[in-house]
Amino acid sequence: MAEPSFILLNPGPVLLDDRVRTAMNGPDACHREAEVSALVGRTRDALTRLSGGDGDHTAVLITGSGTAAVESMIVSVVGSGRLLVLDNGHYGDRMAQIATAHGLDSRVLTFGWGCPVDLDQVQAELTGDPEITHVALVHHETSSGMLNDLRSVTSLAHRHGVEVLVDAVSSVGCEDLDLARGDADWIAGSSNKCIESVPGLSFVVGPMSGFDALTDSTRAFYLCLRRHYRAQRDGTVPFTPAVPALRALDVACTLLLEEGVAPRRSRYAGLTHRVRDELRAAGWTIRLEPEHRSSCLSAIDLPHAWSYSQLHDRLLARGIVIYASQGPLARSQFRIATMGQLTDESITRLLAAMPQVQQPAVLES
Ligand SMILES: *Cc1c(COP(=O)(O)O)cnc(C)c1O
Repeated sequence: MAEPSFILLNPGPVLLDDRVRTAMNGPDACHREAEVSALVGRTRDALTRLSGGDGDHTAVLITGSGTAAVESMIVSVVGSGRLLVLDNGHYGDRMAQIATAHGLDSRVLTFGWGCPVDLDQVQAELTGDPEITHVALVHHETSSGMLNDLRSVTSLAHRHGVEVLVDAVSSVGCEDLDLARGDADWIAGSSNKCIESVPGLSFVVGPMSGFDALTDSTRAFYLCLRRHYRAQRDGTVPFTPAVPALRALDVACTLLLEEGVAPRRSRYAGLTHRVRDELRAAGWTIRLEPEHRSSCLSAIDLPHAWSYSQLHDRLLARGIVIYASQGPLARSQFRIATMGQLTDESITRLLAAMPQVQQPAVLES
C-alpha cells in the first residue's frame, strides 16, 4: 500500500482501504430497485455480526452521521419510559442533551471527564428510582479515551429489569463488544470510525423483539427507528439512503468480517501502544490509568509552554493530522487515534515529527 500523503490520526473519518473508496464509484442507482435492497440487507446482516449479534438481533441503517443513530435509538427506544444517562465526557453529555431536546423523562449521573462510572452510584439510583426503564452510556468515550465497563453496568441494570442503550460509535468494529453475550441491549454506531468506511451512514443494532415492540415515535419523524426498521424489514427504505456510501460500507463490512474484530483491535492496539511507549520515552504524559484506556485512542498532555494549534500546525506541515481535545480538556490535552488503514510507517513518521518534550520551547517550523 502506498503511504498516503496525509496521515489521519483523528478518531474518524479514517484512512480507507482503496477497495472501500473505489466502491463509491459504482453505477448510478435508484434506491427503490432490488440491487439497493440487497445492499441494505447484506450490510445490516454484516453489522449485526460485527456487533456480536445473533439470530435474535438485527441492525437498521440510517443515513446520517453517528449522532443520528444515537438520537434515533434514544428517542425511539426510551419513548415514554424514564432514562438514566451516565455521563463521563463529551458524548455522555450529548446523550443527555438529546434526551432533553426530545422532552424525554430523563436524569443524569455526571462523573466528570476521564472519571470512570461509579457503579455504587448507579446502583443507588436504580434502587432508589424503580421508574427508571433505560440506562444510556458511551462505550468508548472518545473525548477522554476512556473505555467504559459496559458489562458491569449492563449486568447491574439487568438485575433491575432496566435496558441498556450504548453509544458505540467509536468502539464497534474494534473494541470487545458482544450483544449475544449481553454486553448491551441496543447500540448505535457509524460507518466512518473503526468500521473504516466513508462518513454518511449510521446504524442501530438491537434485539429483534425490541424492534418489533417499537411504537411510532411521537417526538421524531426522520429519526423514528420504527419507520426505518419496518421498511428495511420489508426490503425497502423509508427515505433516500446515501447509496454511494452504502456501496462503500458493504465493502468495508466484508473486509472487517474477513479481518475479524479482535485482530483489528490488535492491529490498532499495536500502533497505539507504540505511540504511547515512544512518546512516554520522549517525555510526554499519557492520560488515564492503563486499565481504562481504549485500544485505539490516546489522550496526551500538552506540554505547558505549547498551545494545541502550535503542535497541530507543526505536524500538519509534515502531513500528519492529530486531533484537539474538547471542552474542559481542550487546553491541556490532545488526542491521537490509530483507527483506519495506518501502517507502522505512519507511526514512524508521527514519532519522527513529534518534538522531544525534555528539550521544549524551540519549535522550528
Ligand atoms: C464520533 C462520535 C459520535 C458521533 O459523531 P458524528 O459527528 O455524529 O459522527 C458519537 N459518539 C462518539 C463516542 C463518537 O466518538
